[in-house]
Amino acid sequence: MVNNSELLKQIEEYASEKKVPIMQKEGINYLTTYVKDNEVKTILEIGTAIGYSAICMALVDPKIKVVSIERDEERYLEAINNVKKFGLENRISLLFNDALNVEMEGKFDLIFFDAAKAQNINFFTHFEKNLKKGGTIITDNIYFHGYTFMDEDKIESKNIRGIARKIKDYIKFLEDKNDYITDIKNIGDGIAVTKRNDVL
Ligand code: SAM
Repeated sequence: MVNNSELLKQIEEYASEKKVPIMQKEGINYLTTYVKDNEVKTILEIGTAIGYSAICMALVDPKIKVVSIERDEERYLEAINNVKKFGLENRISLLFNDALNVEMEGKFDLIFFDAAKAQNINFFTHFEKNLKKGGTIITDNIYFHGYTFMDEDKIESKNIRGIARKIKDYIKFLEDKNDYITDIKNIGDGIAVTKRNDVL
């Protein structure tokens, strides 16, 4: 019988072969440690891809439940397969949709943004109502492979320049929020950890 770490390795290899962007090792280690240390039990993820980070988070503790949204059908179907391989169908719910079209019910301990990088402000505004008091929003790829803090004139691609600018706007948006405290961690491709004040 294939064990969980071998199954995870197979997903990592598939992602690398098919060029599916999944979280970097350092980032996933940080995320799963955060889930464990903070006793997170309910997670909403925006950007499932093939289910790698959702599975890693669910494996931290048998009480954890994850809802994850993906808009790419092929990836969504692959994620369903992967979740089944781990027998996690009862704890990971996968939704096939553009996240911004989903009216989510309920509140979560942790919301993880790992989807279209230019949409983070929209994701925040749309899903903030689903964050529990004292909950945390974690956003991956804040460095955007180094482009976020690069001199704009040095970025040749107009598309990349646009995304880098939107990520900078997102960082400012987070910093300006009085009811949240954001810490940007120099981990993987840069991770923003945004904690809602308990007093709310
Ligand atoms: N979290 C995954 C992991 O580490 O295993 C990786 C997610 S990948 C970086 C980003 C995914 O978000 C892509 O598969 C993309 O199709 C999806 N995505 C982008 N914008 C989205 C949106 N608005 N709604 C739902 N999914 C979206």
